[in-house]
This record gives sequence, C-alpha cells and structure tokens, in this order.
Amino acid sequence: MSLTFDACGGANGSLVDVALLDTLRRESIPATLFLNERWVRDNRQLTRVLASDPLFQIGNHGTRHVPLSVNGRAVDGVTGTTNAHEVVKEILHNQHTLVDLTGTQPQWFRSGTGYYDDVAIEIAAQLGFGLAGWTVDADSGATTTPHQIADAMVDAPDGAIVRLRMDHPFGGTGAGLKTAIPRLRERGAYFTHLPQPSFP
Ligand SMILES: [Zn+2]
Repeated sequence: MSLTFDACGGANGSLVDVALLDTLRRESIPATLFLNERWVRDNRQLTRVLASDPLFQIGNHGTRHVPLSVNGRAVDGVTGTTNAHEVVKEILHNQHTLVDLTGTQPQWFRSGTGYYDDVAIEIAAQLGFGLAGWTVDADSGATTTPHQIADAMVDAPDGAIVRLRMDHPFGGTGAGLKTAIPRLRERGAYFTHLPQPSFP
C-alpha cells in the first residue's frame, strides 16, 4: 500500500506532526507527502529536510488548496478555481516553489478537497501530472480516534492509496499509525511510493 500524508496549510493546517514523521523514519516506511504551498512557506526548512530524505516522495498539494475546476465549483464550502489559467496556477505556482526550495520535481498532484472537473483533469495531464486520489481516507482529516484510524488502515485493500494528515499533531493520526504498523506488518503488508504517473 501507499501511505500518503497531506500538509494542507492555512489556519487549520500549518503545524507538523513531528512524532508521526519520526514513526515513519524509525519504521523505515516510505511515504508520499502532499505539501500545500501555504504549509511550505510556513515550514521551509523542514520542507528541504523532508525532500532530501529518500524515504519521502514529495507531492504537490496545490497553491491555495482549492478544488480544481474551470467554473469555480465549490466543494465542502471551498470555492474552486474559476478558469483554465487559475487551474494552471493552482498547480504550477506551488510546483515552482517546491522545485526552487528542494530541487525535486513532484510528479503527483492532489488538490485541496480532491475535486477535479473534466477540463482540469485534462490540463493536469497536459502539464504531466498524475492526479493522486485515494482508496481510503483513513483519518477523515485527522478527526477520528487512533483506534478508528488504525482499523481503517488495517482494513485497506491490497494496493490501496491511504490518505492521512501530517499537519495535526494534536489529532489521532500519529497514534493510529503507530498502532496500525505492527498489525499491517503481521498481515504481510509492505509500503511503496506512488509509481510514475501514466497517461492513457
Ligand atoms: Zn489538504
């Protein structure tokens, strides 16, 4: 399975779950970290450190953390990008920041809310980005208990992309991860980065 961790930035998402990152390192679990530009600007040094660690694959989690749309469609109360130019900017502004700061070129993009309309999907593909959905939203945005999070991870199907948050140190995600790892290992699970994106 692939564990993916979102760092969403903004008022409710600019912190760092240091204990969670330590767990991944101690257990040598490769993970994909989707970093939003607002989070990156608040955590520049850490962004460099994470990107230089081969355990971590860096993904692009958007510039303003909004749904990717060409007509401003709102999802979960968040207004989306309103035209193609804004779609491109939502992807590339953060991309340039990540490249400048870390020298790594993320190949995967995940929008805030995970919404994309058909045109936005086309634009992202033309820019060469894979769009990273998920199979299991294991911590519901860091709102559930460690026990629920661990169960969601352990119940994930083979090959699952599991979404979690890495910006809620006071939530249950870190503890849930810690509980899930031995249970997953017992079941023979192993962890991989997302593969190279491919386009039809
Ligand atoms: Zn997010």
